[in-house]
Formats: sequence, structure tokens, C-alpha cells
Amino acid sequence: MAIVGAGVSGLASAAFLARDGHRVVIFEKFDRAAPVGSGLLLQPTGQAVLECLGQRDFIVRAGAKITKLDGRTVSGRKVLDLDYRRLNGDMFGLGTHRSALFDALFSECEAAGVSFELGIEVSHIEGVDTARPRLVASTGRRYGPFDLLLDAGGMFSRLRTAHLGGQGCRPFPYGAVWITADVPNEIFTRSALQQRFYGTDVMIGALPIGNGGIADSAGKTAFFWSLRNDQYENWRLAPLASWKDQVVAYWPEAEPLLSKVHDHDELLHSVYADINVNPRLGTAAALIGDSAHGTSPQLGNGGNLALLDAVVLAIAFARARTVEEGLSDFFAQRRRHTHLYQMMSAYLTPVFQSDLQPLAWVRDAVFGAACRAPYLRRDIARIMAGIKTGLFSAMDPNALIARYRGRHDATQSS
Ligand SMILES: Cc1cc2nc3c(=O)[nH]c(=O)nc-3n(C[C@H](O)[C@H](O)[C@H](O)COP(=O)(O)OP(=O)(O)OC[C@H]3O[C@@H](n4cnc5c(N)ncnc54)[C@H](O)[C@@H]3O)c2cc1C
Repeated sequence: MAIVGAGVSGLASAAFLARDGHRVVIFEKFDRAAPVGSGLLLQPTGQAVLECLGQRDFIVRAGAKITKLDGRTVSGRKVLDLDYRRLNGDMFGLGTHRSALFDALFSECEAAGVSFELGIEVSHIEGVDTARPRLVASTGRRYGPFDLLLDAGGMFSRLRTAHLGGQGCRPFPYGAVWITADVPNEIFTRSALQQRFYGTDVMIGALPIGNGGIADSAGKTAFFWSLRNDQYENWRLAPLASWKDQVVAYWPEAEPLLSKVHDHDELLHSVYADINVNPRLGTAAALIGDSAHGTSPQLGNGGNLALLDAVVLAIAFARARTVEEGLSDFFAQRRRHTHLYQMMSAYLTPVFQSDLQPLAWVRDAVFGAACRAPYLRRDIARIMAGIKTGLFSAMDPNALIARYRGRHDATQSS
């Protein structure tokens, strides 16, 4: 089996499949498999997947336990006031260094015997409709054939574009610049993801992410500033000090963190898109993770959806007699959940990042009240926690763990 991309979904899927005896090779375009991207919030769903891999304790020790999402207008009005403690089962979010998540997944790949082909950018699949497709690298070299090909190349996957063109990829006009700052979590509330809003064009966020598993190191914070992508060059050309003044005017508590930033290059620019495509590329080829269902980071769930793909692949393939059967079962198990989060990403992102200012008036008037309303507040917390699966349904992360552990049990149903 071959997987394109050593990101969250690629590494996790490879580890699960290799544990079950499949020979798995990962193709990664970078010369070194390494973490890419900002700190992220691991939801109870993603934590359950790490429990299945035996890495949950490490990731909890390395991260920062998040009990609340506290989003306010710059004048202090509560817009998002969500508390994991309203959910059953002692759930919490986990602010996590990318490097800690990467280390956890990579070490599981190594232990399971996954092999890596590094520095190879895959351009397309040859024989995509056959049962034994091959990968073709940008150099023209061919690899394979393979029983199963999974594209985990991320939101702007080259492989997906080669086979599906631009269909189903809708880039957002806004992205973010972000930095992981070496400041104690105490500067912001230690156990909350905090956000500040002004209209729909200003959004600032701070997520404590713990010490990344490095003993004696101070807790870090991932700090985000929403930015129109076509304004990124102007932002870089303007003096950094005027941007810092602007941020501090909206959020004075950010000043100690910003005092540690000296150059635009310390902040990284992320752009994102909604991806909504049919993830089946062929009989034995499929898209997983962001390549299949990328969402904006606003929901804090893209990486968790990618981890869920990995464990569900393992469950589906443990009982499948053929690759086609395994893929069909996988799609059937994942479809409803991913569609729901794709839909919410499409509708909710403009409420926080767009030029549609009237949406902010509605948001500021309605969201705070919804977060206080008895039934709604639990339901919105379920969305945040990644467990919502339908209008009246939710998944239980512990049941997912039990399903994984019993995956070889023939009597178990999905
Ligand atoms: C600013 C920001 C904040 C976020 N915050 C959160 C959060 O709080 N919670 C959350 O759950 N999610 C969050 N996300 C989303 C999360 O990062 C993604 O959903 C997750 O990384 C998707 O994993 P993936 O494996 O599908 O893709 P990626 O992690 O993007 O990995 C893709 C891999 O494929 C490799 N690759 C790509 N193309 C090729 C090719 N042609 N050949 C070979 N290799 C290739 C890349 O080098 C990379 O290693 C955030 C995203 C951003 C941008």
C-alpha cells in the first residue's frame, strides 16, 4: 500500500495499516519528514485516535488542557462561550505542538515498520481505474503497482488536482499569519482558546499548546491574526511596529507576546480552502484527510477529521475481503460526519473571516445568547468537540476506541 504525504492523515493511516500487517510506504515531497503548520487543538475525537495508537498519555503530557473556548468582541461582549465540561465523559480539548503530534505519529510508523520515500513529489496516478495503480513522481519515475493508493497530500494536493482539476476546491479569501511564541501560558488564560473579534475582518486568537514534551521548557502559545490573502504582501511591507500597535489596540493582553516578535518572517502565512469532492479516485485509489475534506481552521477540527479517517480505515480494512470492499466501508462510515463539518466550515467561516460585515452584527447579537441557551449550548459544544454527527446525534469517543480494539471481531457491526 502507498500513501502520499507524511502529514497528520498520512502518518496516522500508515501506522494503523502497518500495525495490521500491511506493507506500507509513504511518499513525501520534503527531504525530511517533519511537522508543518501551526499549533492545533486536538479534540476528544483526535485524542481517542491517539489512545488507539497508545500515544494519548504522551500527547496529554506534552500539550495544554483546554476547557473553554472564549471568543469576545474587542469591547468584551461574549460571542463564543463554550465549555467542554458541559459534555459527558470528562472531555477536554488539547492545545498541541505540531511537533509533538508528529513525534507521536512518526514513532508509531517506525515501530510498525512503515517505510519512507523522501524527497519525492508525486504528480499523478497511472492506471487510476485499475486494481493495481502506480504512482508517478514529478521526475517521471514510476513506483508500484500498489494494492491501495491513498492521497494524504493536504488541502492543495497536487495529486487531487491532477485527477479532479480545481473542482470542489473553494479557497477562502482570508487566511492567517501565526506564530508559536515562547511565552508562558499565564499571559493568556492557561486553559482556554481565546479569540477577539471586530467585525468580520479582525480576528485574533491565542491557543496555549504546552511544552511539546520538552521537560523544563516553558509552555508556549500559538497566536493567530486573520488576514485577507491579497493583503499579505502589504502587511509584510508595512512596519511591523504599526501592526503590533494595531493588535494591541484590539487586545492589550497580547503586548508581552508581541514584544518577542521582531521580524515579519517569524510569522507564517496560512491559506485555506473548503474541499468538497468525491474521495474515491478509482477502484484502489482514494483521498483522505484535507485532500478529501479540507475545512477552515475556524472549527478546530481538520486535523481531528484526518485522524478519524485513519482509525476508520483500520477498522474497515480489518474486516474487508477486498480493497474495494474496504474503501466502500470506509467511505460509508466517514461520509456523514465529514459532510457535516464541511457544511459548517462553509457557512460559519464567513461569519468570522470575510468582508461581509453585516454577518458580524448578527453573530454578535445571536451567538452569545445561543451559547447560554440550555439545549443549544451543549450542542454547540459538541460541534466544537468534533463529536456531532447529525442534527440529533453525536459520537462517543470511547465507543470508537472499543470499535477499534474489536475490529477483528467478525460479529461487530459498524
Ligand atoms: C493555521 C491553521 C490552524 C489549524 N488549527 C487546527 C486545529 O486547531 N485543530 C485541527 O484539528 N486542525 C487544525 N488545522 C487543520 C489541520 O492542520 C489539517 O486539517 C491537517 O494538517 C490535515 O492533515 P493532512 O495529513 O490531511 O494534510 P497535511 O498535514 O497538510 O499533510 C500533507 C503532507 O503531504 C505532503 N505532500 C503534499 N503534496 C505532496 C506530493 N505531491 N507528493 C509528496 N508529498 C506531498 C506535504 O509535504 C505534507 O507533509 C489548522 C490548519 C491551519 C492552516
